[in-house]
Amino acid sequence: MEITILSPGIYTYGAMLIGGVLRDAGHRVTLTRTPAAPGDSVLLMSLFSTQHLLDPAIRDLIRAHRERGGTVYVGGPVSAAPEMVLGELAPDAVVVGEGEETVVRLVEEGVSPGLLGIAYLDAGRPVVTPPAPPAPIDRPLPLIPDDIGSQSIRGASAYIETHRGCIGGCTFCQVPRFFGRAVRSRPLENIIEEVKAFAAHGATRLSVSGGTGSLYGSTNGEMNPDAFIALLRSMAEVMGPRNVSSPDIRVDCITDEVLDAIRRYTIGWVFFGIESGSDRVLRMMGKGATVRQVEEAVERCREHDLRVAGSFIVGYPGETERDYEATKDLIAALSLDDVFVSSAEPIPGTPLADLAARTPRDKNPAFIPHTGEYRPLGLTESEARYFDLMMHADLFRPQLRLVTDEIYNTYLAEARKQGQDIRAATELILRYAQP
Ligand code: SF4
Repeated sequence: MEITILSPGIYTYGAMLIGGVLRDAGHRVTLTRTPAAPGDSVLLMSLFSTQHLLDPAIRDLIRAHRERGGTVYVGGPVSAAPEMVLGELAPDAVVVGEGEETVVRLVEEGVSPGLLGIAYLDAGRPVVTPPAPPAPIDRPLPLIPDDIGSQSIRGASAYIETHRGCIGGCTFCQVPRFFGRAVRSRPLENIIEEVKAFAAHGATRLSVSGGTGSLYGSTNGEMNPDAFIALLRSMAEVMGPRNVSSPDIRVDCITDEVLDAIRRYTIGWVFFGIESGSDRVLRMMGKGATVRQVEEAVERCREHDLRVAGSFIVGYPGETERDYEATKDLIAALSLDDVFVSSAEPIPGTPLADLAARTPRDKNPAFIPHTGEYRPLGLTESEARYFDLMMHADLFRPQLRLVTDEIYNTYLAEARKQGQDIRAATELILRYAQP
């Protein structure tokens, strides 16, 4: 069968993986990043953002393909809210959750009530079949496009999935809801075979994904530093240490040996999801870490000669001005090498989405008009905090970065875009919330 997989904007690992599964099942698969008419083939949309559900180009493509008699299936992280996907995009079916096995049967046999892990409309009413069991963690090689080397996601051509699941329970994160809280790690040889295939296709740098890198090989919540170190060493043997990165590590999942291995076998950066400088907000987020642990982890990284980046979330419902000031203080004290800020985005299926739906607009920073120093810019409170924090972080980098007009305008535009996206996502969640 001819199958086109569309992964809008970037080749995600998930789209490449599904492409490999379908290729090995004997289908002719094309993977594309650009919404375009897929001819006579089955169209598989791999969607990873709530915004995809609202994207007119995606909606039009699905409608046009179905009107021509084509078949459209949707999978990926958006499948955490299958009724929403059906309601907004009206595909033939949604592959719910881990779809590696389900998708093959779906394209070969079509929609049926007996197929586990799908959702579809029956006379306009959504039907969601019981969940499929988790997919095997051992899998075929992904379908790697020849232009993978042209892709740069935070500097990496691709993020290799080394394991699934996370021991954490952060309220804003989809990982533990989608993959569970037990960590399932892939065999090392399987991963390295894949790394070699990416290198052969021109990937310039590979990164470790899977939520929290250093949990690779862990069992029952117990870290297995040796497994993670062997992973980095083996990846570096193929790619060279300057072409491996291992972002997204929990502050409570580091050891001296792990940090040493990151310095020896990777580009030498550690990325922490710090989120807030307020213990109260960290508790609300279910982060399972304290500000003190963050400070100690950053200090320890510096002792190992590592550069440290941190990501922060502003505008979490319930975050007060005082909490926000604590985040600014923490950024000033840590002097991080790089800072990523995002406004709290309610992803359907997460506790944060439920919270956003329950929070009245006049109490939700994503909707409250900002009345402080940025008032003339017409921002909401979370937009103003994003904008302010980005500029604040630039003042406290080890190398001072001047905020030029261009940088100012970029931050402002991004603040507004995130604000708009979050309000649109919140409206969508409210539309499909159970009464
Ligand atoms: S630690 Fe990271 S991957 Fe795990 S739940 Fe929290 S944000 Fe998600």
